[in-house]
Amino acid sequence: MFLAVGWPGNADAIDAAKIGIDTDRGYVTVDASLRSNLPHIFAAGDINGISMLVPSARLEGRVAAENAVLGTRRRFSHEFVPTGSFTDPEYGGVGLTEAQARARYDCEVGIARYRDLVRPVIDDHPEGFCKLIVERNRRYILGAHVLGEYSAEVVQTASACMTANLRIEQVAELQPAFPTFTEGITVAAQAIVRQMGIAPTAPTWGELRAADPTPRG
Ligand SMILES: Cc1cc2nc3c(=O)[nH]c(=O)nc-3n(C[C@H](O)[C@H](O)[C@H](O)COP(=O)(O)OP(=O)(O)OC[C@H]3O[C@@H](n4cnc5c(N)ncnc54)[C@H](O)[C@@H]3O)c2cc1C
Repeated sequence: MFLAVGWPGNADAIDAAKIGIDTDRGYVTVDASLRSNLPHIFAAGDINGISMLVPSARLEGRVAAENAVLGTRRRFSHEFVPTGSFTDPEYGGVGLTEAQARARYDCEVGIARYRDLVRPVIDDHPEGFCKLIVERNRRYILGAHVLGEYSAEVVQTASACMTANLRIEQVAELQPAFPTFTEGITVAAQAIVRQMGIAPTAPTWGELRAADPTPRG
């Protein structure tokens, strides 16, 4: 077994401080427009230690380059960056975990199990689930966590819904292609709509089965 924890910065290795660039624990410190303390030097990506992910580095690269070359003052945001682990089973997540959300908000949680969706069953990958966490008051998604086949793909739809500030009842009305794993997002959203009584909706097959697990012929 190999276990690695932490991710040390190495901006000091290029003697950033020697030319007067401020660093903190090996990372170049930047402001919200990715400008370092030297106004003509910007730092995007891992080197600033903010969000150590490819999609974040790509966005920061564009923002920093535009600010540097066009003189704009664009700011970056990493509020809704999905992450995934490309393991077996795969995992995808965005936003707060259920524990984090419950510590700060009054929440409702909806779960769609892969075994109740058509595509995972067809593909013989029925292990997994899609969980949405919603703030009850304003009905926005606080977090989404998907475990199972294609979960890092599936969670991107939740991330898009969060970025667009969709309320959960709007997410429940999306019409994802059938049969797909992504349907888990809408099925979980429908469960929340039903649990919160936002609109009267019929239970899904999975909920009926959970209520009465007696096998039927
Ligand atoms: C094992 C591993 C797995 C990862 N998996 C994922 C993943 O699945 N998804 C994800 O989103 N992110 C993943 N990451 C993180 C991702 O790789 C980084 O966040 C991303 O590459 C950052 O991009 P960057 O351009 O800032 O830095 P880099 O991609 O590291 O690019 C920096 C470049 O600068 C060059 N360089 C360094 N020093 C000098 C120098 N003195 N002079 C000239 N050139 C120099 C380097 O050679 C390198 O080419 C992973 C990272 C690791 C280590």
